[in-house]
Amino acid sequence: MPDTKKSQPHIEILQTNLLRWFDKSKRDLPFRRTRDPYFIWISEIMAQQTQIDTLIPYYNRFITNFPTVFSLAQATEDAVIKAWEGLGYYSRARNLHQAARLIVSDYQGRIPDTLAELIKLPGIGPYTGGAIASIAFNQKVSAVDGNVLRVISRYCNSFADIGHAKTKKQITGWLDSILPDAAGDFNEALMELGALICLPKNPTCLICPIRSGCQSDATGTTGQLPVKVKKQKQITKQVEVGIIKQNGRLFFIRRPEVGLLSGMWSFPITETAVGSGQDIKKKLRENFPELSEPIFIGTSRHLFSHIIWEMSVYGFDLDKLVCEAVATRYLVSDQAESQSDYQFKSLSEVDDLALPIAFSKLLALLTDF
Ligand code: SF4
Repeated sequence: MPDTKKSQPHIEILQTNLLRWFDKSKRDLPFRRTRDPYFIWISEIMAQQTQIDTLIPYYNRFITNFPTVFSLAQATEDAVIKAWEGLGYYSRARNLHQAARLIVSDYQGRIPDTLAELIKLPGIGPYTGGAIASIAFNQKVSAVDGNVLRVISRYCNSFADIGHAKTKKQITGWLDSILPDAAGDFNEALMELGALICLPKNPTCLICPIRSGCQSDATGTTGQLPVKVKKQKQITKQVEVGIIKQNGRLFFIRRPEVGLLSGMWSFPITETAVGSGQDIKKKLRENFPELSEPIFIGTSRHLFSHIIWEMSVYGFDLDKLVCEAVATRYLVSDQAESQSDYQFKSLSEVDDLALPIAFSKLLALLTDF
């Protein structure tokens, strides 16, 4: 980060030009028409892994379902997950739900107004806490996300690795030291500039309101910044999916409480090296010895942030078995621990389940099964 004295003129340009531009050019978003911390919180959690323009319909649906922190706290987890459907990264919804319950039980429904208190809540880290504290409560704290790291790295011509915690800490500290009184607007303006003008590729420097102070523009290094050392690549996994059918209903289990898609409903699966149907058959036969040979249904591919599932889908028809007997046997498996961890559902009832997209898209393969 720049030496404070040398950078003084740049700081003034950053503060003044950015706020003036934001005032005139900011996008009109539903959560920008309010300072209600509940709505700011929901929007910030959604924005963590979703583009702002994309999340608007999801935001509207979510706050229609849960207009207050009390309604969110009182809802069932399945209802919250259902309202989150389509946004992915479901741990965000689960954390929102838990945090809402804590806010009601420990804070009488009042959302904390300081960064220190906010980051004690599930799902709220320094960025989200800073955004809520500054935007909803006008606290003088920064909110540093990927957009902000990019803008500041370029503005200050910094070649420090933005994937490194130390760099983030330095940028956060520097921003905290230069925040104007309108800290919430300033934080939003930095994010907005990163989203609209100082883009990852091909930033539109010609129309940038802070160009006159930008050190990477002056030295021609914008294309090299920010520096981010690549992390591990995505891993591809072969997954066999077992779709068990009985009396026109399909068998679902709840996934374990830890790991990928934790606590969500799914078809039974195995990770396998081959994808021939033998692994899922072997696993299911531990509990369902009467299982028929697997019927190959089709394949599907699903991308998570760091894992790709190449899914081979196999069907098993249990029409000759008694539903309860099957379900009871399944209890001894390591994937289901109680009756609330498995269920049979007809296709028309599947909508009631919060079924992750990785599995719900498999339903389209079942027309002939
Ligand atoms: S001048 Fe270009 S590189 Fe500098 S902050 Fe503006 S958009 Fe980003």
